[in-house]
Amino acid sequence: MDQASALRSDRESAGPIIQLRNLSKSFGQLRVLRDINLDVYPGEVVVFIGASGSGKTTLLRCLNYLTPFDSGSVIIDGEPMGHRYDESGRKVHDRSNALCRKRSRIGMVFQHFNLFPHMTVLQNVIEAPVLIKKMPRQRAVALARDLLKKVGLLDKVDEYPSRLSGGQQQRVAIARALAMEPKIMLFDEVTSSLDPELVGEVLDVMKKLAAEGMTMVVVTHEMEFARDVADRVCFVDQGVVLEQGPPSEILVNPKHERTRSFLRRMLRQQGEGS
Ligand code: ADP
Ligand code: MG
Repeated sequence: MDQASALRSDRESAGPIIQLRNLSKSFGQLRVLRDINLDVYPGEVVVFIGASGSGKTTLLRCLNYLTPFDSGSVIIDGEPMGHRYDESGRKVHDRSNALCRKRSRIGMVFQHFNLFPHMTVLQNVIEAPVLIKKMPRQRAVALARDLLKKVGLLDKVDEYPSRLSGGQQQRVAIARALAMEPKIMLFDEVTSSLDPELVGEVLDVMKKLAAEGMTMVVVTHEMEFARDVADRVCFVDQGVVLEQGPPSEILVNPKHERTRSFLRRMLRQQGEGS
């Protein structure tokens, strides 16, 4: 067995950490997610690509139940998001503390940094662990410093977000999400609003996380990142995963014409950008 398939069989023996079953979501008449089925295994990096409006953000938001879905299920680490089953097998909707506990396994970073502007970098990072996880402050500070070191910002602990570059703010946002010690990290176009010269420093942090074995679901238009870091690329089209596979297949030799035309468009745009 070669190394890649050995790694794959290791991961798969642990069972999926994310299971999507017939996940569907509409906004009014608009069907945004149509019957999505997908498993993600521990340590896997899954990259979603697809045109704007295809449903990528909605899919990520359903994973941590920021967007409640209409039907189907999202099972994280063996537990369904949004509900549980009581002793007699009846479906009971999660109350806020159950949801909060389930959500704490999933860190999310968005396109816009959403740091608290009135707090220093350190305060931003320790806020959730102290308030939500009731982590002792001293431990939270030690953890925050470790994480800020990991993202290369130890010298900025006492700085306010407005004094940081976009790339630095986004790295703080990653450290802040990691401070909850999640098992899964979701990234939604985290480099899309950055100046081109700041994109690399954020992608480098994500690469490092991937190399450390973090389970990651990433929406991005950075095709090089997808090629180099993804274990699997999923092409999302009009609310379905039209095709998926290793980057060497999906990015190089896709089966569907819609995937091919999306990739051509991306290449053209990225060619123009550089
Ligand atoms: P993507 O991230 O792939 O660009 P989204 O998941 O953001 O796609 O959006 C998919 C579709 O759902 C779009 O047509 C968008 O306008 C619509 N949509 C997303 N969020 C909402 C919402 N809260 N209310 C109504 N329509 C929405
Ligand atoms: Mg989006």
